[in-house]
Amino acid sequence: MMPALKVLPKGVGRLRAGHPWVYRTDLADTSGLEAGLVRLVDERGKGLGTALFSPHSEIRVRRLAEDGVTVNGAWWRNAIAAAVERRAGTRDTGWRAVHAEGDGLPSLVVDRYGDVAVAQILSAGLEAVTGAVVDAITHALAPKGLLLRNDAPVRERERLPRETVPAFGEVPQRAPYTEGKLRLNALPWTGQKTGAYLDQRENHQLVGRLGRGRCLDAFAYHGGFALQLLAHGASEVVAIDSSEDALAAMGETATENSLEGLLLPVEANAFDWLHERAAGAERFDVVVLDPPAFAKDKRSLPRALAGYKELNIRAMRLLVPGGHLFTASCSYHVHRGDFFAMLAEAAADSGRHMQLLEIRGAAADHPELMTVPETGYLKAALLRAID
Ligand code: SAH
Repeated sequence: MMPALKVLPKGVGRLRAGHPWVYRTDLADTSGLEAGLVRLVDERGKGLGTALFSPHSEIRVRRLAEDGVTVNGAWWRNAIAAAVERRAGTRDTGWRAVHAEGDGLPSLVVDRYGDVAVAQILSAGLEAVTGAVVDAITHALAPKGLLLRNDAPVRERERLPRETVPAFGEVPQRAPYTEGKLRLNALPWTGQKTGAYLDQRENHQLVGRLGRGRCLDAFAYHGGFALQLLAHGASEVVAIDSSEDALAAMGETATENSLEGLLLPVEANAFDWLHERAAGAERFDVVVLDPPAFAKDKRSLPRALAGYKELNIRAMRLLVPGGHLFTASCSYHVHRGDFFAMLAEAAADSGRHMQLLEIRGAAADHPELMTVPETGYLKAALLRAID
């Protein structure tokens, strides 16, 4: 028998509005309740669904299913198989199989890199049912190995240890996968996120198709954009990152794809590099800006927007007439409206006439659930300087 947990009216309203989270303050007393599955009820005892319960997090409840649905091993197998089925037809062999709340599976991320899988279990409630989740992932994906990349900082809010542990089989340090015509490598044990930036998968290829002449990839990491630009015919790509390790990994992958001669890795602070170059005569056919999240919370939003604006002004000034700028922000706290208002201001201050060609977001295998804005964090735009 699952313990019942009473949700206060404000929490009931949120659930009705299609959001699966209930905060600590919107629940009756939860003391003594352990992490795991609970049955949610309203103040009159009416069932509201089955949920994951986290005893320490401010997000104390994450709803999984309608009331009366038994969440057992078969339920997990069905839910994860359905998420995988929604990705049927993906040509790339690196893709996201489960995008947490976006797939109705709160606090669970599963990525696939070739024949291995990497998952993140991001709540105490989910951690309590790890066995069933691992079984369902291995059943749906049949990977050679599954790594639990449970070292994300959000686990601290759940009072869970930060650790990277194999759940099944063998997972290598470098896991090859394909993206368009390229053979890339994820670093499941040590890389960012689960080992690569799969959220930009479709954008890498969109930008790649513009590859010609001299291009610039600022905040390049392992060269997701830079290598696509080269693979599609750019004559040279300057790839900037402040991390020596990221540049080394990019270099190895460039060599494996026979693109190394055309890649110019630069270890630098992209802000400073762009500032220095914007005043000079050097120009680029394509510029990519994919910085890390500058806004970690609401309070830092004004400063973050000023930073994004400064970067974008510099990038716009570096374009040849007709040149393209692909620009992104992965800060959740920078909402779509903020991002596009910032770009309009940057365009005005840059002195260039910038056209908006495409509004972009994360790849389709990172779906945003309409009622859960937190599932959509990546905003991007493809712009062109017309003179
Ligand atoms: N464009 C990449 C992902 C970039 S992630 C892709 O599509 O795969 C952001 C990168 O910015 C990280 O590799 C980080 O090392 C780098 N970075 C962070 N601050 C930086 C700075 N000030 N200058 C240059 N690189 C920076």
